[in-house]
Amino acid sequence: MDIFRVLSRGASLKKSKDIVTDYALPSVKQSLNKDVEKEIDFFRTKKFSNLAKSEQDSQKEEEINQTHAKIEDEHNEPPPPKITNEDEARLLRKSYRANVTGNDIPLPIGSFEDLISRFKLDQQLLTNLIDSGFTEPTPIQSESLPITLFDRDVLACAPTGSGKTLAFIIPLIQQLINSNKQKNSGLRGLIISPTKELAQQIYEECNKLSSKLPLKVAILSKSISSKLKNKIIKKDKYDIIISTPLRLIDLVKNEALDLSKVEHLIFDEADKLFDKNFLEQTDDILTQCKNPRLRKSMFSATIPSNVEEIANQIMQNTIRLIIGHKEAANQQIEQKLTFCGNEEGKLIAIRQLIQEGEFKPPVLIFLQSITRAKALFHELLYDRLNVDVIHAERTQIQRQKIIERFRKGEIWVLICTDVLARGIDFKGVNLVINYDVPNSAQAYVHRIGRTGRGGREGKAVTLYTKEDSIAIKPIVNVMKQSGSNYDEWLDNLTKITKNEKQNIKKGQIKRKDISTVPKVVKQKRKQREDMIRASKRRKQLTNGEEGETNNNDSGSDSE
Ligand code: ADP
Ligand code: MG
Repeated sequence: MDIFRVLSRGASLKKSKDIVTDYALPSVKQSLNKDVEKEIDFFRTKKFSNLAKSEQDSQKEEEINQTHAKIEDEHNEPPPPKITNEDEARLLRKSYRANVTGNDIPLPIGSFEDLISRFKLDQQLLTNLIDSGFTEPTPIQSESLPITLFDRDVLACAPTGSGKTLAFIIPLIQQLINSNKQKNSGLRGLIISPTKELAQQIYEECNKLSSKLPLKVAILSKSISSKLKNKIIKKDKYDIIISTPLRLIDLVKNEALDLSKVEHLIFDEADKLFDKNFLEQTDDILTQCKNPRLRKSMFSATIPSNVEEIANQIMQNTIRLIIGHKEAANQQIEQKLTFCGNEEGKLIAIRQLIQEGEFKPPVLIFLQSITRAKALFHELLYDRLNVDVIHAERTQIQRQKIIERFRKGEIWVLICTDVLARGIDFKGVNLVINYDVPNSAQAYVHRIGRTGRGGREGKAVTLYTKEDSIAIKPIVNVMKQSGSNYDEWLDNLTKITKNEKQNIKKGQIKRKDISTVPKVVKQKRKQREDMIRASKRRKQLTNGEEGETNNNDSGSDSE
């Protein structure tokens, strides 16, 4: 399969005409905000949308609500909505703005209980779900659970923090229980994640949901990998494996794992796994999964068109599922752009946020490189902010510990690179700061998606300087699409060309070093350094002159 060719065509971000600015007419703003409000209801605080309904829809909805009200009266508790026909499905989809396309699309589920009647959901699995606090499916779950339980390939795009993990774990567990009944064994479920941190998180979720079920789940940690390599663990011991691509491929090449029986292959953060850094490895995995009954799923909050093309080539009879706008930011997040003039201005902006009480921990701060992340860490250390830094140069154990401490609230401010941009679920993050403008719309959506998760609200501030005039454009587009306010003049930025877009992605913007050291101190430091350098040179010269003096009997001082 020539997925390299498809990939090289470049992505495009869907543009929306919905623009909300400070100067928009109040009526326009209000109606747009209404739209936004409907889209954010991932966790079903409202039953059905009142938005732009036809008379027929209203009538149908009235009937459905009446039936529900009747049952509610009888049982004194809200009934689990059951979707029994296309009309009900259409209304439900409209309420959460789902766009589902493909052949023979199954009806969505209205409740987890719905899965019992329709798919004979394992009772223990349902208990595990409820014990974990999951009582109602989110829209992505309502739609994708039936699709995958019907063994269909799915390409799913839903906002950050909207419950995609359960959307692929629940059907995987259920299907493997069914597969066990047919006396199948060995590795049959594979979940691929671009980072170890995300793999760990998925593993924990999977463990929770498969508790007391006859399934063995593993994450390919260093120790498990070496046990598999040394045959201390048999290669068919586990039913489900969660891994990053490289580690998995390494084991397969060493014949420590066999993917030929895999029945369910899930790519989380699929667009990342199909970008140029991972493509070769992902392709290798696909080649190794030779089971003709293989079901494939791709999940992400951003699916550029080139990844869709790849998906169409590698999947069969796929159902395409989009919740909300494709590649839009999570609507629970308040987005803000702050112009800082220059690099020094960024530190001032952070201190201003602290002064104004907007810097409410836990806070995540993203930077474009390890060097810059380290530099900011050293700057903020003196602000007594209880800060730490995470990046690829830190060991796996260090990274894991920092994440744990951040989750527990022992670290308030976590500075990081894009290593934490994808998938990580920090439930309570209040604020994400893009200290450096991210290099694509997708990177922006994922970074800010670390806040506003699981139905909570969040805030994202992106700091930019005059160096960012090009890089800021894709961010403005995402903000437009999400209905966020931004400065009027940003609307007049010229459209960026494909080349410019590629250049932003390829190269990091050159920025001045991060430092708050006042100019006078810097000047003094420079003077001192100059003096030391000069004195060294003098010494060298003197030594040289001595030699010359010895030879020529002359003794001039060059300085
Ligand atoms: P995504 O992968 O879409 O970014 P996650 O799967 O990480 O989002 O889920 C985000 C948060 O929502 C997690 O804390 C998760 O526990 C929670 N969550 C997921 N599904 C439900 C549900 N049905 N009800 C309540 N909370 C949920
Ligand atoms: Mg996720």
